[in-house]
Amino acid sequence: MVAFLLRRGVQMLLSLWAALTLVFVAVTQLPGDPVRALFGFTPPPPDIYAAIQAQFHLDEPLLVQYLLYLGDVLTGDLGRAFPLDPYGDAGAGPLVSETVLATAPVSAVVILGALVVQSVVGVVAGALATTWRQLGAGVYAVSLLLVSTPVLVAAYLLRTVFGLELGWFPLSGAAGGPLTYVLPVLALAALSTGYVALLTRAELTETLASPFVHAARARGLRTGRVVAVHALKPALIPVVTFVAANVSQLFVGLLVVEGIFGMPGLGGTLIEAIRDRDRSLLVGLVTVVMATSSSRTRSPTWRRRPWTPASRRAPPPDRRSPVPGAAPPVGATAPGGTSSCRRRRRCRRTRSVGDVRALVLRQFGVEPAVEVVPDPAPPVDGVVLRVGASGLCRSDWHAYAGHDPDVVLPQVLGHELVGVVEDVGPEVTRWRPGDRVTTPFVCGCGRCATCLGGDPQVCPQQRQPGFTDDGSLAELVALHHADANLVALPAVQDGGPTDVASAALGCRTATAYRALVGRAGLRPGEGVVVLGCGGVGLSAVALARALGAGVVVAVDVSGAALERARELGADVVVRAGAGDGALGSAEGDPVVAAVHGATGGGAAVAVEALGSERTLAQGLWSLRRRGRLVQVGLLPPGADGTGRPRVAMERVISHELDVLGSHGMAAADYPGLLALVASGALRPADLVGEVLPLADAGRALVDLPSRAGAGVLVVEPWR
Ligand SMILES: [Zn+2]
Ligand SMILES: [Zn+2]
Repeated sequence: MVAFLLRRGVQMLLSLWAALTLVFVAVTQLPGDPVRALFGFTPPPPDIYAAIQAQFHLDEPLLVQYLLYLGDVLTGDLGRAFPLDPYGDAGAGPLVSETVLATAPVSAVVILGALVVQSVVGVVAGALATTWRQLGAGVYAVSLLLVSTPVLVAAYLLRTVFGLELGWFPLSGAAGGPLTYVLPVLALAALSTGYVALLTRAELTETLASPFVHAARARGLRTGRVVAVHALKPALIPVVTFVAANVSQLFVGLLVVEGIFGMPGLGGTLIEAIRDRDRSLLVGLVTVVMATSSSRTRSPTWRRRPWTPASRRAPPPDRRSPVPGAAPPVGATAPGGTSSCRRRRRCRRTRSVGDVRALVLRQFGVEPAVEVVPDPAPPVDGVVLRVGASGLCRSDWHAYAGHDPDVVLPQVLGHELVGVVEDVGPEVTRWRPGDRVTTPFVCGCGRCATCLGGDPQVCPQQRQPGFTDDGSLAELVALHHADANLVALPAVQDGGPTDVASAALGCRTATAYRALVGRAGLRPGEGVVVLGCGGVGLSAVALARALGAGVVVAVDVSGAALERARELGADVVVRAGAGDGALGSAEGDPVVAAVHGATGGGAAVAVEALGSERTLAQGLWSLRRRGRLVQVGLLPPGADGTGRPRVAMERVISHELDVLGSHGMAAADYPGLLALVASGALRPADLVGEVLPLADAGRALVDLPSRAGAGVLVVEPWR
């Protein structure tokens, strides 16, 4: 934290110095002789001219002038402005520091006034527009108008209408008492007020769509009360961040407003100094304005805790008294437990470094063992989670087998995780210790064009716990880009899924949801075939049912897997023989014939959730015309000894089939998925097969391919 503050301080000093130098050079390069200009049209007497030149070092070379000025500024001396009477004492100009002190209060009132107006009016208008639909369109239109009106135009309009025509307010100057401030403040606040109203409306609308609001409404609370009590606080955090960051923009607007209304503030004086080319005054004023505005542009580090009201958040798991086989500690109240930040930090310090247990993969294809490893530290934009549960899935097995080029040994696997925030990096604003969260396994950077376009699941700078970084088959896991990726989970006592159920949601259900909703665009009533009933496949069956699909067909070689599929909602199950179908073309394949029979001419959507050339072909040939195949199963070249898979492109062309890739899921898609869970249409707990302690995870990972159909394996690393 100290290093961070130091870095910020040095950055600020450097930018101040650069600005000061730029202004100095710009002012000295202005055409014309500023001293001559003091005397108007009469030529100055040579001795007085020379005295003023000498007083301001204008007769020295430019570099000397610059160094002299820099020296003065470093000792806190901003120098003097040009003398008011050019024929009097050359050194009698007002002190720049005094001018600043005299004018700053006027500007401070205008800026603070504008801040108050934009915050209060903007937030109230945005909140009213959200709760009161009739008002919404009007507020929206006015806000858009304000946002597109430059300060200059707003100032002239207000001055003309309310000052000149109606005469309600004084036209200029600060001498007329409080009323003189009204128009300048309104002109300066207009644009930002529109923006704050739009931002509040957008954030509130988003917050109102989240599960905890549905829960509050379900308890019978009225919309107004839900907004005022529950939704406004989380929604206001981006608004506060905007208002704080906007202060430096207000300083720019201040120049315009004070210039137009002739206010004797910093901005008005600055305009005069530019006109007079009064270098000392100009450079001094710009330095002060820069220093004031840049010191305030740091956004406040409020922690965002959406979805779960503070009083209802789960306490952290108490790792010192785990009861094997008992219900998971997250969501249960630990004896004497508290989620207070201070207590948790004390706990951290009393623990010795290096007592975290993790399942470490040291050699591809060799069973990983539990080791004691150093405590992870939170990345600057990340968090450390205490893992409540972590799923085991086929991607973990691929990593273990050495199929994943991202994995560099030694590696801690595990990417389907849920846990409680233990520690946060300095740049994290949305989370704090005690928050219960999960994350998509693809963590986008949150900053690149792909992420900003809403597709972090394919971010080129993505991080993946368990693949590019150490994962969650450990007591603690560090996660990058926390603000962009973590997803808050409601506490168990609020109807949120348990840790074990959430771990099943982490990758498989999320991946299946993305495949069916985001990629295939499944519509109610459409026939679906799911090929491969491992974790993702079974999730796809359950989701297709929950999303209102028509006939759902499940295909697998394992009878046990098909049994699970039937329990989860498959209408028809098809047992594939190991040698069914020809590679590439699956014409005449019994699986394909069965799907065509069950769906009346072919499925609209096929989900390939195994990752083999054969099932890919079966999926493709099972589709009706214009059907969509989503490839979810990983198909690394050569994984089943066949090189890159052969695809029957003639069928793709003649039937206009869509072949779609799907990769993870964005954090932004979680609300839709969690809403399915909250409504009871999807029960992730049904997917779970076996829950294991960390010590048994290595064996289970190695045996994973032979346990197909046994349901999702979940590890509780704290056990
Ligand atoms: Zn990105
Ligand atoms: Zn997974």
